[in-house]
Amino acid sequence: MRIDFWGVRGSLPAPLKPSDIQNKIKFVIQQIQMSDLENDESKRRFLEQLPPWIFGSVGANTSCVSIYFPEYPNVLFVFDAGSGIRELGLTIKVPHYHLFLSHLHWDHIMGFPFFGPAYNPNVTIDMYSFNKDFASVLSMQMKPPYFPTRMETMGSQQRFHILTEVIKFGRVTVDYRYINHPNGACSYRIDDGKHCCLYITDIEITAAAFVRDGESEAFYQNIDLAIIDSQYTPLEMFSKATWGHSSFNLAVDFAAYWSIKHIVLFHHDPTYDDQKIFNIVQAARRYQELLERKDITIQLAIEGTSIDL
Ligand SMILES: [Zn+2]
Ligand SMILES: [Zn+2]
Repeated sequence: MRIDFWGVRGSLPAPLKPSDIQNKIKFVIQQIQMSDLENDESKRRFLEQLPPWIFGSVGANTSCVSIYFPEYPNVLFVFDAGSGIRELGLTIKVPHYHLFLSHLHWDHIMGFPFFGPAYNPNVTIDMYSFNKDFASVLSMQMKPPYFPTRMETMGSQQRFHILTEVIKFGRVTVDYRYINHPNGACSYRIDDGKHCCLYITDIEITAAAFVRDGESEAFYQNIDLAIIDSQYTPLEMFSKATWGHSSFNLAVDFAAYWSIKHIVLFHHDPTYDDQKIFNIVQAARRYQELLERKDITIQLAIEGTSIDL
């Protein structure tokens, strides 16, 4: 399976400010030497050694991740319809999308009115949510005066499925489990028979996330990669208790406890700049050393990147 990240921010899109771009350029100018400009190779070396928060950005868009299975080239699995889904729709055009919503908070649905394939009569979109009213909630955000086009007239075939059981598509299964979040949310376990990915955003990790029972053990077993909420620093998690998100150290604890091999830190806070978010992944790696769990791969969710499993 190939996992593509189209939106990795939480709560609200967070575009770079002009001053952020100016600061990145200033940093580069202060670092560069004449010898770095000698030839293409020296220029490439110079750019490669820049800190990632200078030569890049985690991206601005809110939650949207897609999973593509090469054996099903006409189908794309999409998780959440945050503002990142607009770029997805411009980039990956297939006749059939399966869109799984973790929940209906605005950062996870705001991109749907801008999802180009939804306007194509040759496209089918199957949508899934645990929320019984999700079709009318999605439609509501496009009612006048909020948006000029009604959802009902977008053109594509839209089918709405309220989750009650494991969804199966050929070899692929998508299971779901409720997680701790205001107004409710669910995580998704995507298994293609060879690899297993967990999409678990908008979870406030508490002691309940570490309770072993038959259901949790089955859901969290053999996970190769988890895309996991790690919105806050530990201190900020205290001040934002009950807001429904986790700190990076709890994301590492969760992976260690459930023997998850690889985590991707996700749902970055819109008030954090690139340097702070890249520092968070360094702090998460130092924390895993304290836990003596160097076996877990920890990486940052960055818009526009992919992971092959
Ligand atoms: Zn969210
Ligand atoms: Zn939420």
